[in-house]
Amino acid sequence: MRFSGLRVLKEGLTGNKGWGPHWRDPEPKAEYDAIVIGGGGHGLSTAYYLARNHGLTNVAVLEKGYLGGGNVGRNTTIVRANYFLPGNSEFYSHSLKLWEGLEEDLNYNVMHSQRGLINLFHSDGQRDAFARRGNAMINQGDDAILLDREGVRRYLPYLDFDNARFPIYGGLYHPRGGTARHDAVAWGYARGADRRGVDLIQNCEVTGIDIENGKVTGVQTTRGSIRARKVGIVVAGRSGQVAAMAGMRLPIESHVLQAFVTEGLKPVIDHVVSFGMGHFYISQSDKGGLVFGGDLDFYASYAQRGNLPMAEHVMEAGMTLMPMLGKAKVLRSWGGIMDMTPDGSPIIDRTGVEGLYLDCGWCYGGFKAVPASGWCMAHLMATDSPHEVAAGFRLDRFRSGIGLMDEEGTGAQHNLH
Ligand SMILES: Cc1cc2nc3c(=O)[nH]c(=O)nc-3n(C[C@H](O)[C@H](O)[C@H](O)COP(=O)(O)OP(=O)(O)OC[C@H]3O[C@@H](n4cnc5c(N)ncnc54)[C@H](O)[C@@H]3O)c2cc1C
Repeated sequence: MRFSGLRVLKEGLTGNKGWGPHWRDPEPKAEYDAIVIGGGGHGLSTAYYLARNHGLTNVAVLEKGYLGGGNVGRNTTIVRANYFLPGNSEFYSHSLKLWEGLEEDLNYNVMHSQRGLINLFHSDGQRDAFARRGNAMINQGDDAILLDREGVRRYLPYLDFDNARFPIYGGLYHPRGGTARHDAVAWGYARGADRRGVDLIQNCEVTGIDIENGKVTGVQTTRGSIRARKVGIVVAGRSGQVAAMAGMRLPIESHVLQAFVTEGLKPVIDHVVSFGMGHFYISQSDKGGLVFGGDLDFYASYAQRGNLPMAEHVMEAGMTLMPMLGKAKVLRSWGGIMDMTPDGSPIIDRTGVEGLYLDCGWCYGGFKAVPASGWCMAHLMATDSPHEVAAGFRLDRFRSGIGLMDEEGTGAQHNLH
């Protein structure tokens, strides 16, 4: 079933009776060529590109709950390519280019909206840092415009420019940044993978990883054992636990990140606005809700819910930046489990076990990475060699110290990333 304007019109006129399920619900087979553990954004895109780019279709995605029930359906949907450091810069640039062709590629409306992202700055020193970042982005082939205070005012007249703690000096504008509908991204990749023959197995928790003579041979699951020559661990906040099944201890801590949405309002915020100094960012969803969030809750946890002190901190920061927010009613808040690495950059790499691969450490920025992560992880699993734009995401940098990518310059303290 292909989606098209004509099809939508026809279904609309005939009672919408012709739509079928977007993917099958197959029983797990006894053996696959490759297994991807985790049916989040990264796992589904990995499976999709294994089939699309490498012709590997005897593949299963094993998801312990339902597809898209993890962070991919819990994030604040921001998509951007405004990284500074070599290693990150080319990877996120590649990802943004994939986003720009994604709907056509998947034949699925993921509501990718390039409404522009503005990162505010509040001191001369921060202006210098943002000017450097903007130059790095332009050198990478992406877009960046340094705005002075009046430039920001033209786009965001509703901000409190003279708030006492962090008066606004200007902003770095990234016009191609924006948002996408998060769960549609999971559904689009799931449908695309399924159409190419990938088995998407839900309610199937991996409980063990089978290894013989240093090679992976399959997995144990709540739906029986399944053999495979290649297994990818793509489980975001649960990476440490699943890797432990293969005897590995990862340089990852899991922390909660919360987000909030208000009641639906008329269009008022046209861009994504990021107020890094205050730990606050905001955009408006197509339904009208103001979607906003802040920093991590400051303790390690596997609970998918947050605490009230952080809720208060985020609301305070929001009110500092745009006092009009106080009039909106918050409808919901939620949390997701972030897989934090010590340098804030991810891992896409082989492990010490032959045939076992790792894709994790996305911290709080993995949604925008979904296309390129799947692209590069599929490349790694299919060819056993890293893709050139992800070659820096090595696991051993945390042992050797060589190649650390500390994008935010905050050192190995997870809650500062
Ligand atoms: C509040 C919040 C806001 C965020 N905002 C942004 C943002 O604006 N922009 C951005 O780029 N990123 C953002 N992120 C980060 C982004 O959502 C994550 O980095 C990314 O979604 C993680 O990858 P994933 O989609 O594969 O994870 P998940 O969707 O969590 O997928 C992992 C899957 O693995 C499954 N799993 C775990 N253990 C097992 C097992 N043993 N067996 C089988 N399956 C298992 C889980 O059930 C889960 O479905 C945000 C995150 C949160 C929580």
